[in-house]
Amino acid sequence: AVPLVVAVSTRLTAQRGLLIRDRAAFERAHGLGAALFDKTGTLTEGRFGVVGVVALSDLSEREILAWAAGLESQSEHPIAQGVMRGAKDRSVTPKPVRNFKNLPGQGTEAVIEGHSVRVVSPHYVRKRGLDAPNERIDELGDEGNTVVYLLIDDKPVGAVALADVIRKESFDAIARLKAMGIRCMMITGDAMAVAKSVAARLGLDDYFAEVLPHQKLEKVREVKARGVTVAMIGDGVNDALALVESDLGIAIGAGTEVAVESADIVLVRSDLRDVFTIVALSRATYRKIL
Ligand code: ADP
Ligand code: MG
Repeated sequence: AVPLVVAVSTRLTAQRGLLIRDRAAFERAHGLGAALFDKTGTLTEGRFGVVGVVALSDLSEREILAWAAGLESQSEHPIAQGVMRGAKDRSVTPKPVRNFKNLPGQGTEAVIEGHSVRVVSPHYVRKRGLDAPNERIDELGDEGNTVVYLLIDDKPVGAVALADVIRKESFDAIARLKAMGIRCMMITGDAMAVAKSVAARLGLDDYFAEVLPHQKLEKVREVKARGVTVAMIGDGVNDALALVESDLGIAIGAGTEVAVESADIVLVRSDLRDVFTIVALSRATYRKIL
């Protein structure tokens, strides 16, 4: 006979667009105590638009976009796509780059016209003592926008502010999971102000910002160490380690290949309400097995 878990998970795959790569993880979902959500591309759509460009040098706003877009043309990060869209909308041509490198959870770097160029998070800039205080940038950040800095030879020459939107299903997904008694938290590489605003709007139980990929993994370990069954839900390269470490790794179908390959279950429709469905069905299945 076909075990019940196999039957249920096969049916789920067909009906709901849930790709169950690890059935044991699906079984563990019945005892889920906490869910850690990535922000960008998971709770939010990850479709950024440029809302402001601030010059910190004699470069014009268009030049800042041209340098930044040069780097971002090589990255698949949602921020990169936002910068590219911003450049295209303004008919700005990205500069050609060499030696491109991803800085996971922090930004990108490459060489343009013989200069070392980076597009990075405020956290990265602060950590290296390269801050360039600017009222307009603070304002854009306080409004809940994601700000990235353009560094040329370690000098901040400009900043780009981008806005993203919360997925409309996220509100329902969080409310339902919380009603089941599951602690819902967000873990993001983005800045504190952005995280705070998203967490408040979704009614999350807790949030952690400016977190690097290995710190996402450490947070998963920390929750597990308390004896709590924990799920990690994410879409990015930066989530891969945490997805593997969690009891239940869930990837957004529209996410990166690395995330999908690191997960136990893939939400093919990229609908976060399916996390609730997984737990509810795992509970129902488990009750029948006992
Ligand atoms: P999240 O955890 O919200 O998915 P990431 O860990 O991918 O975010 O990124 C964290 C931060 O690193 C971003 O908010 C941004 O400041 C910076 N960053 C990452 N990738 C890029 C990129 N390609 N271009 C610019 N900034 C980036
Ligand atoms: Mg993400």
